[in-house]
Amino acid sequence: MKTARLVLPAMVLAAMAVAGTQPALWQDTRAVTHVPTSAKVIALTIDDGPHYKTTPEILAVLKDKQVRATFFVLGENAVRNPELVAREEADGHEIAVHGYHHASLAKLAKKEVAAELAAAEKALGRAAAGRLSLFRPPGGLYGDGVVAAARERGYTLVLWDIDPHDWARPPVANVVAAVLKRAAPGSIVLLHDGQYPLPTARALEIIIDRLRADGYELVTVSELLRLNERRAAQSGIL
Ligand SMILES: [Zn+2]
Repeated sequence: MKTARLVLPAMVLAAMAVAGTQPALWQDTRAVTHVPTSAKVIALTIDDGPHYKTTPEILAVLKDKQVRATFFVLGENAVRNPELVAREEADGHEIAVHGYHHASLAKLAKKEVAAELAAAEKALGRAAAGRLSLFRPPGGLYGDGVVAAARERGYTLVLWDIDPHDWARPPVANVVAAVLKRAAPGSIVLLHDGQYPLPTARALEIIIDRLRADGYELVTVSELLRLNERRAAQSGIL
C-alpha cells in the first residue's frame, strides 16, 4: 500500500506537467481546501461582505486580538461599502475575490466567469489591484469554466475544510464548538460578514483565544499557502 501511495501522486503530477499545469502537491488538481502541514497554523476567512454593520464588528474583534484574516469580498458589496474594503486593507487583512454577485458560477463558461471576475476586480478598485490572487466562487461551487477562468487570470481557487454555518445564525457556542472540533494544522475556516445580525464576531473572540491557547498561530490564506510552498521547495519537490 505504501508503494501505491507514492506512485499515484507521481503519475498525477506527470499528467499535470504534460497538460501544462503543475499544481503543488497539497492541492487537488483544482482547489485548495486546506494545507497539509505539521505547523500549528490556521487561516480564518470571511465571505460575502463588506456589510455596514457586521464587518465593523468583526474588524474590531480582529484588531483587538491582533489577528489578520482573509476577506473574500463580494463585488456588489465592495461598491456599496468601499470604505470598509479600505479599512480591511489598512488593518493588514488579505483581500480576496468572491465574485461580483452571489450567484453560482458552476455551470458558466470560462468567458462568463472571466467577466464576473473582471467586474469583481473593478469593484475592488485600485487598493487591491494587482494583489488579488485568491478566488472563492460563491457557494464553493465550481465547474470547468471557473477553473479555466481562475487559472487564466492567475487565481488560486480556495475553499475550506471547516464550515460552522454561521450564516444560518446558530448560537455563538455552536459556531465556536464546530470550529474547535475540527481545527487542525493547515485548516481554512469559513465564516461570513454579508448580513446582520450574525454570531460571527462574538464567536471569533472565543475561537481566537481558544486556538491560541492550543498553540495555533492565525495567518492569512496566502501565508498558509507560502508556508507549504517553502516546505515543498525544501524537500526538493518543486
Ligand atoms: Zn459566499
